[in-house]
Amino acid sequence: MLIVKKFGGTSVGSPERIMNVAIRCVEDFKKGHDVVVVLSAMGKTTDELIALAHKVNPKPQKRELDMLMTTGEQVSVAMMAMAMDSLGVRAISLNAFQVAMHTTSQYGSARLKRIDSERIHHELEDRKIVIVTGFQGINKYDDLTTLGRGGSDTTAVALAAALHADACEIYTDVDGVYTADPRIVKSAKKMPVITYDEMLELATLGAGVLHNRSVEMAKKYGVTLVVRSSLNYSEGTVVKEDTGVEKLLVSGVAVDKDADRVSVIGLKDQPGIAFRLFDTLAKANINVDMILQSIGRDGTKDISFTCDDGVMDDAIKAIEGAKGRLQYKGIDTRADVAKVSIVGAGMMTNPGVAAKMFEALYNEDINISMISTSEIRVTVLIDEKDAERAATAVHDAFKLSD
Ligand code: ADP
Ligand code: ASP
Ligand code: MG
Repeated sequence: MLIVKKFGGTSVGSPERIMNVAIRCVEDFKKGHDVVVVLSAMGKTTDELIALAHKVNPKPQKRELDMLMTTGEQVSVAMMAMAMDSLGVRAISLNAFQVAMHTTSQYGSARLKRIDSERIHHELEDRKIVIVTGFQGINKYDDLTTLGRGGSDTTAVALAAALHADACEIYTDVDGVYTADPRIVKSAKKMPVITYDEMLELATLGAGVLHNRSVEMAKKYGVTLVVRSSLNYSEGTVVKEDTGVEKLLVSGVAVDKDADRVSVIGLKDQPGIAFRLFDTLAKANINVDMILQSIGRDGTKDISFTCDDGVMDDAIKAIEGAKGRLQYKGIDTRADVAKVSIVGAGMMTNPGVAAKMFEALYNEDINISMISTSEIRVTVLIDEKDAERAATAVHDAFKLSD
């Protein structure tokens, strides 16, 4: 069997933890399996490297930031190879360059395009454990790129697909995927299985346990994922196409505190205005999420949208730069907002789900400022200070801990 095992930052956060992971991987290797290990940077290294960059430049160039951040993963893979060697097992660490993990060119949010699997196969045939840096790639300029925060999960799934692995195991600091972030909602319950679609929605809406691109890729290539703890041997959660169980009305709650709201006030109430606004944002490479347009009054209207807090300044700059074309009166922004979402494949055939969510928020006296829905989710934008109370109230209203 070929097994890809990915370990996140906490799991390799100290020399002792690295040793613990090494032992776990060696157990599989000694059973005769081929083992490919994907690692994140140790502990909070990536955050620390970003903070370090900002000490010398408030707006570090994205290329150089990637160059800096990718060092984190290089530390952990080298450490792991040394730990395995100390256990008497042959192991080799490889970075994105050595494997050749090709990505698109945008620094900070590159997408994996192609992985050369030759070197890895060669090392596996030589009976070594292969340890690969997560989160990084190389672009057409031979520069190092990163896949976006949390991107090591995507490296693991991409490798599992490229190597036709028999298993892809994502080890983290919780026992699996829960009905809500167990650090926020105390009554959250571990799910034994979840579909790709539900997991994708949860991950996209803020459940950081898996990088959303990793789920997208797992679905595309049919890679079954298992999310489990690196600290114990409990079963974990299987992420796959069809769970074989009856679809739950609501399977989980997600919280995203990284959302910001931007409102463009006093736009002309005429055709083409929304197009011009979102075209301006798209050209500036800004992803928007929820959108709300007010009805026109006195010939003007307002359009609000949410985006990640990392891009709000760029969004404002783009809108201000297009003032002549957009002709608005003002821009109003808020960073202290959060999105709370419910996700469930059973929702599409059941009216009343949204109402129940709103009722739970009403009972807690929490005001909703924006709403958006899809077939399998409902998202509300609320004050960030209410996020945890809202998530718990909604989680309990749908009895997800039963
Ligand atoms: P790693 O470093 O292993 O990649 P992450 O911090 O990226 O770990 O992801 C694990 C964290 O995801 C957990 O500690 C938990 O707080 C958070 N999380 C958010 N939503 C969920 C959820 N629905 N189920 C489990 N964990 C979740
Ligand atoms: N080390 C990177 C991060 O902190 C990648 C990852 O952990 O998946 O975002
Ligand atoms: Mg992660």
